[in-house]
Amino acid sequence: VLLNPTIKGRVARVRSIVHRRGLDGMIVSSLPHVRYLTGFTGSNGACMITQRSALFVTDLRYRDQARDEVRGFRRIITSRGLFEGSASRRPLSGCKRVGFDSGHVTYALYRSLRSLFPEVLLVPTVGVVDSLMRTKDAEEVACIQQAAEITDRVFMEVLAMIAPGVVELDIAAEISYLQRRQGAERDAFDILVAGGERAAFPHAKASTRKISRNEMVILDFGCVVRGYASDLTRTVHVGRPSRRAVELYRVVQEAQQEALAAVTAGMRARDLDAIARKRIQRAGWGRYFNHSLGHGLGMHVHEAPRVSALSTDTIAAGDVITIEPGVYIPDYGGVRIEDDVLVLEHGCRVFNASPKELMIL
Ligand code: ZN
Ligand code: ZN
Repeated sequence: VLLNPTIKGRVARVRSIVHRRGLDGMIVSSLPHVRYLTGFTGSNGACMITQRSALFVTDLRYRDQARDEVRGFRRIITSRGLFEGSASRRPLSGCKRVGFDSGHVTYALYRSLRSLFPEVLLVPTVGVVDSLMRTKDAEEVACIQQAAEITDRVFMEVLAMIAPGVVELDIAAEISYLQRRQGAERDAFDILVAGGERAAFPHAKASTRKISRNEMVILDFGCVVRGYASDLTRTVHVGRPSRRAVELYRVVQEAQQEALAAVTAGMRARDLDAIARKRIQRAGWGRYFNHSLGHGLGMHVHEAPRVSALSTDTIAAGDVITIEPGVYIPDYGGVRIEDDVLVLEHGCRVFNASPKELMIL
């Protein structure tokens, strides 16, 4: 059976980062990280990578699945806790300093690891696997593209259902159903459908509220294909829009367009954020754009790099980021437009094809 070459390269890269940080090995317990490094898609697994060995552990339910999915790792199947069940195999033998991800290991797990591996010094680390996950290879880009295409098709299909009297949650349920019917593994996050004054809350989950005549409706949703997420926002108008609504939409659309046109490797993320923010400030709505311009996207819906006014990150080729300016006016409503893009050496490639002119339903 062939070893997945992509994954083999990832383990080698973990080893070199770990080595540069003065560590002899790395304990990986966060499931998306485990999936990224081993290919394992189950719900319970961990891995331990040292300079000499790579060990994967899961429980009995996943014995056959692990055999099919996980190559290039010594596999341990246990009926006990993952680390408890693997300790007797001495997975960290010869190691003095072993890293763990301080953002994912709970205090309880840390205490358990200390008692299971008393001979090693456990060193908290930040971003070892996350820094690798940031740069997408061709296969990962293809997954995100596929997820984005599903999201786009579902957006066009669900438009037919958006009308006065329809409950937001019913629209969300339909989106979820359509995404799965089109081949998605699952929704990428809780689907946001927010009409009228609820559209003034940037992260309003779909509610029991009914869509009414003459209001903006924000739809923000995504799906997962082979572990990778898409994330799309469009704002539509039900009934005849007021001049204010048209103007609001136009400003957000221009802000998004200007940011998309500017994205390129080597620029500071905060400068990108500033491009969209300035456009909105010029219209007098600066204080109503109360979140960051975007975020990295991959196996996590929010990952590196940060795309905000406070970010210290530099945008790099291979990053996948979202561009999603918004304006939210209290007691009135809001507009947000979001696309996912792949950063290139020069410019970017936009994954989404959903139309962006103001749609009047
Ligand atoms: Zn979104
Ligand atoms: Zn987003």
